[in-house]
This record gives sequence, structure tokens and C-alpha cells, in this order.
Amino acid sequence: MLGATARIEAVRRAEVVQQWADGVLVGACLHFGTLQVRNMATVGGNIAHALPAADLVPALLVLDAQLELARATPAGDCVRRNVPLDGFATGPFTTVLQPGELVTAVQVPARTRTWRAQFRKIGRVVKDLAQVNCAVALQVEKQRVLSARLAVGAVHPTVTRVPAAEAELVGGEIRGADWSARVGRAVDAVRSFIRPISDMRATREWRRHVCGVLLCRSLEWVADPHRAGHVPRYEDGQSYRVGVQGSGDG
Ligand SMILES: Cc1cc2nc3c(=O)[nH]c(=O)nc-3n(C[C@H](O)[C@H](O)[C@H](O)COP(=O)(O)OP(=O)(O)OC[C@H]3O[C@@H](n4cnc5c(N)ncnc54)[C@H](O)[C@@H]3O)c2cc1C
Repeated sequence: MLGATARIEAVRRAEVVQQWADGVLVGACLHFGTLQVRNMATVGGNIAHALPAADLVPALLVLDAQLELARATPAGDCVRRNVPLDGFATGPFTTVLQPGELVTAVQVPARTRTWRAQFRKIGRVVKDLAQVNCAVALQVEKQRVLSARLAVGAVHPTVTRVPAAEAELVGGEIRGADWSARVGRAVDAVRSFIRPISDMRATREWRRHVCGVLLCRSLEWVADPHRAGHVPRYEDGQSYRVGVQGSGDG
């Protein structure tokens, strides 16, 4: 469970997060702004803001995260409810939160701990908001995909999963004869589902194309058994280190 007030940098450093699903959340945190931003920004703020380019959200979506919400009544009681993260954002900067309601925690189900997963992001310049981001997660047993999650950000009014694309992967044998064809169909399904916009960061056509490229690369990565448990580290990307003084942090 992640507390809503946990800072992004604290999440990145948490041992349990590093050991969870190939450290997919660590990847999202490393791509998230500068160290100064990561030391200020909270998990709850990133989710409740409902930014279509939010970095933590794709990684949490592919881990089937649930949110704990709470609000105080005029009588001083606390009313709590749980909702899936999937569907929490209803549009850019809008959510299912009721007046006075807060996100208090994020629960990640234990079954996702061993899933193969990865987060990717591309921006105009290092540390800008995403032009496109994505996360993928596969539950694999004896090379067979038992379940699949694909989530994309900055290409749709909300960060979203694409169930039609996920269905193309389920039942497939990773790196089997038809794996590439399945990945191709999944990417096509994503490209036809999303509704990217053109803005100062990228055109809709570029976003649609690059979204598919990032997904392909991530699916290739998670299908490679040699990369299992390879948690992203500062050393893996020059861009991760922006805003970090010295070299003592890993
Ligand atoms: C320079 C800069 C760089 C950034 N880079 C990135 C980036 O790379 N990736 C990225 O995803 N985002 C980025 N952001 C956006 C932002 O910092 C994050 O979304 C951050 O996680 C917001 O968290 P916060 O705690 O600062 O929330 P705030 O900004 O304080 O709040 C955001 C909104 O959510 C509400 N809110 C906050 N917490 C809760 C809660 N627990 N329950 C209900 N509502 C709540 C607030 O009332 C407000 O409406 C960046 C922002 C800046 C200024």
C-alpha cells in the first residue's frame, strides 16, 4: 500500500517498490520530473490531478491499483470507500472524487508482484511532461501469457488501459511463432482506440505512431526472460539524474 502523501522520490527508494513487477513504479518515478519535483510531488496529487500525461498512473494501472478515498461529514464522521484506479479519472483534470473527498491510499494487489512489467516515456526535452508514456505488464507462466495490461498516457483524455489490445496478447506464447503478430495486432488496437491531440509538445499523428513504438519496445522487453527483475537504476539513463548533485545516490 502507498500512502497518498508519499513523495515520488520516497516511492522510488522504497525496497518493496523496487522488488515489485520488475520495478515498473521505479521506472515511472525515475522519469518523473527533476529530483526537486520528485521531492515535492505526492502520489495522491499525481493521481487526483488527473493530468492526461501523469507518469505514475500508467504504472499503477497495469498493476490493477485500487484507491482508498475518504471524506469528513458535517457531523465529523469519516466516510471511506474504495474505487479502482481504472475509471477514477473521467476526463482531463476531472475525477469521480466527491466534494471534500481525498485520495488517502493506493493499494496494489499482491498477485501483481511477480508480473513482468515496464514503464516508458518520451518527452520533447529531458524532464518535460510526457509527449507519450506507457506501461505494460504481463502475467506469464511457462512462457504463456495468462493476463496482460497495457496503459498509455498523453494520447487520450485520460491515462487509459486498452482492453482490446490486452486481449490480443492473452493466451500467446511469449517469443513464440505468432508473438510478433500478436504484438502487431495489440499495437494496431491501441492506435485505433486512442484520441491524441496536437499541442505544443507533439502532433496527434506523431503521438499515435510513437505510442505504438514505445509499446512494441516494452513488450519486447517484458518478453525477454533475461531482463526479469532488472530494476531501472539512475545509471541506466543520463536523463534520470537531472537535478541530482554528486554521484552518491543510486
Ligand atoms: C516543474 C514541474 C514538473 C513536473 N513534472 C511532472 C512529471 O514529469 N510527471 C508528472 O506526472 N507530473 C509532473 N508534474 C505535475 C505534478 O507535479 C504532479 O502531478 C504531482 O504529482 C502533483 O502532486 P502534488 O502533491 O504536488 O499535488 P498538487 O499539485 O498539490 O495537487 C494537484 C491537484 O490534486 C489535488 N490533490 C492533491 N492531493 C490530493 C489528494 N490526496 N486527494 C485529493 N486531491 C488531491 C489538489 O487539490 C490539486 O487540485 C510536474 C509539475 C511541475 C510544476
